[in-house]
Amino acid sequence: MSTPRTSREWHDLDRRQLLHPFTDINTYSTTGGRVIERAQHVYIYDTDGNEILDGMSGLWCCGLGYSQDAIAEAVYKQLGQLPYYNSFFNCTNDIAIEMTSRLLAVAPKHMQRVFFTNSGSEANDTNIRLVHRYFDMLGKPDKKLIISRENAYHGSTIAAASLGGMKPMHEQFTGLSYVHHIQQPYWFGSDRKLDADAFGLQAAQALSHKIDELGEHNVAAFIAEPIQGAGGVIVPPETYWPEIQRICNERDILLISDEVICGFGRTGNWFGCDTYQTKPDLITFAKGVTNGYQPLGGVMIGDRMSEVLASGGGEFTHGFTYSGHPAACAAGIATLQIMQEQDTIGHVNTTLSPHFEKHWFALADHPVVGEARFKGFVGALELVRDKESGERLAPKSAATAYCRDVAIESGLMIRAVGDTIICSPPYVCSLEELDLLIERLTNALVRTSREFGVKQ
Ligand code: PMP
Repeated sequence: MSTPRTSREWHDLDRRQLLHPFTDINTYSTTGGRVIERAQHVYIYDTDGNEILDGMSGLWCCGLGYSQDAIAEAVYKQLGQLPYYNSFFNCTNDIAIEMTSRLLAVAPKHMQRVFFTNSGSEANDTNIRLVHRYFDMLGKPDKKLIISRENAYHGSTIAAASLGGMKPMHEQFTGLSYVHHIQQPYWFGSDRKLDADAFGLQAAQALSHKIDELGEHNVAAFIAEPIQGAGGVIVPPETYWPEIQRICNERDILLISDEVICGFGRTGNWFGCDTYQTKPDLITFAKGVTNGYQPLGGVMIGDRMSEVLASGGGEFTHGFTYSGHPAACAAGIATLQIMQEQDTIGHVNTTLSPHFEKHWFALADHPVVGEARFKGFVGALELVRDKESGERLAPKSAATAYCRDVAIESGLMIRAVGDTIICSPPYVCSLEELDLLIERLTNALVRTSREFGVKQ
């Protein structure tokens, strides 16, 4: 338990001692942040006594909210039974095996094996190791290059950040030389001279061009999120994924579906590849797999790779101390059980999503909103000064930062990415709570347009 302290003491210690992810260290050292000390259902509470409706499900991971006692109890019980044992050196543990089976049971049928990590970043590092090993074993050692997309997010280790396509990240480190990037399927961010479907095709064909440029015999895999999450909830045009799949099939390129955000229901199915009907060779998972109650990530491996990897060739020299950690796997089993028993995805699809989606798309009528996107149970709003031309509010990102801050102040947690507001509500919200979310967001949009002088 933490030491009893006043809110001010928490703030002071935090800003002086803790380095926060993706935060301006200098500014934060003076301004500090918000100290969250408890959470219940879909609400988080800070040390100043504020109650905030969590429109982001934590960092996309707590879709079942914060009051899932069955997950907490499963973790507690597991720690009493077997708090730790590794899966190195011909050992394993029963709970990791059970978790693997439960996971494969909800995964696309061709997924055959699982490699556990602690996070999505490590899982994407693992993907690179698996892909390189696979082609080495096939006698194609030149196939080492990985193609990803601009503005993708695949994590924060050196390898995962190299896979990612976020400029501000690449500016701060030297990425892996064998990762290449193509354009993203961000129609609203394009010049919009093509209609969305034609644009989707063109964006997908960038993969084909890149393969030509690099040489098919050198290219190993293409990695992408079904819907880019951290990049701004970029819902691709419907033409995009079928074309990507066609290119991967024709060109002997493995497809890696990074489902760290899209997995476990966010796009309306267990996985984003179910929604877009692709057949990935590897699926990255993390976050929602334990509802955020324990750190757990990993990779699911499809049939053609599984067969080759298990066909001989000696030791796969890769792994983590906590791969298949018993407490994390116990949390995963309990999470999947809740989602299956309560038919969480079905409930979202039949009840929550149709209701919320209607209100979400109606936000596009607001003068400051240039486009509203929504898929499954995740949405984005593009903020603009002028709806017709799509001219942005200046300076870049200022309006969304303002809108987000106003929303949080009024009791709604949402996120700003560039000029986009994003929202990923918990699956356990009531209809009334979703209405409250829309009401608070609408007020934040009204205040933003007033602040930035956009006519109402
Ligand atoms: N891939 C995607 C698509 C993600 O959104 C994230 C995290 N937001 C990661 C990978 C990295 O996961 P982690 O933070 O658990 O390392």
